[in-house]
Amino acid sequence: KEGRIYNFNPGPAALPLPVLEEVQKDLLNYKGEGISILEMSHRSKTFDGIIKDAERLLKEIMDIPQNYKVLFMQGGATLQFAAVPLNLIGEGQFAEYVNTGSWSKKAIQEAQKLGKKVNVVASSEDESFSYIPGDIKVSPNAAYLHITSNNTIFGTQFQQFPETGDVALIADMSSDIACRKIDVSKFALIYAGAQKNMGPSGVTVVIIREDLLEKSPDNIPTMTSYKIIGGKDSLYNTPPTFAVYIVKLVLEWMKAQGGLEKIEQINRQKAGLIYDALDQSSFYRGTARPDSRSLMNVTFRLPSEELEKKFVAEALENGMLGLKGHRSVGGIRASIYNAVPMEAVEKLVDFMKKFEKANS
Ligand code: PMP
Repeated sequence: KEGRIYNFNPGPAALPLPVLEEVQKDLLNYKGEGISILEMSHRSKTFDGIIKDAERLLKEIMDIPQNYKVLFMQGGATLQFAAVPLNLIGEGQFAEYVNTGSWSKKAIQEAQKLGKKVNVVASSEDESFSYIPGDIKVSPNAAYLHITSNNTIFGTQFQQFPETGDVALIADMSSDIACRKIDVSKFALIYAGAQKNMGPSGVTVVIIREDLLEKSPDNIPTMTSYKIIGGKDSLYNTPPTFAVYIVKLVLEWMKAQGGLEKIEQINRQKAGLIYDALDQSSFYRGTARPDSRSLMNVTFRLPSEELEKKFVAEALENGMLGLKGHRSVGGIRASIYNAVPMEAVEKLVDFMKKFEKANS
């Protein structure tokens, strides 16, 4: 605990302190088994219990219907940019995408690279990705519609999800999974690199409706195949055991916090504190349109790049790390994922007010 600072990193990001403490406690001798979790076979009964618990807890916390499966995969969300089209766009088919920022673009480009036909049906590129497009229409014969539910770099987040009828809705929820209550049954597939809200890097959570598992063609790489990974309950090959174990601990922590209802309430308070500070100031300028603001990544500008540099440096001197905006857009970004405590946000807002006074 001593010497730890407030971590606003975009990912890998803050983990709950009780989780880190438990990892530390179990590291040398896992629950009296005489070996570390790091040294344990993925085929052991103990690890089987851990991975099953992780799936069960995620289903419970996100209220995932019974006809869905949770997969633990590798390759980050980036491998899912390929896995989704490889598994789900069949011969002669096409898919549709909403372009709300750099990560959406990467998902689109990856599908195209694999020779898949992709239509971009809505985009916010015309206004520097500062908003989430409304009124998104999907073609009834598309293989799926892909969205990025939270745009980590631009600080925007879907507040409502598109209605897609019978078309499969697929979401990259890397930066906002389990930050609020959602209706999972609206989605055919949700994926998320764990390293923001779920755990450490190295594992990617995929929530998939079971009927989709049958669609995977046989000629795609094994590690991208939902049918193969799902068919073996994420134990086709060696999974990232340590990362899965930490995900399980994070989920237990989330449950102890009071579940998603409580977590969402706290997240809304945390984000609200910073957005209120932005709205009350003529020094700071939020970059996301108010109706599209993210609960997880709050992005804003100062009057000059020089002041932004100074802000980041002085924040660090005051024990707050990770506030520099993404290198592609500049500015300031406070990533306030589930594990970032209220007191960190209060401290940031207090610092913002003092900095404004001293520099305007
Ligand atoms: N999608 C989103 C929304 C992201 O924020 C990120 C990472 N910051 C990615 C995808 C890429 O994830 P990974 O590094 O796990 O491949």
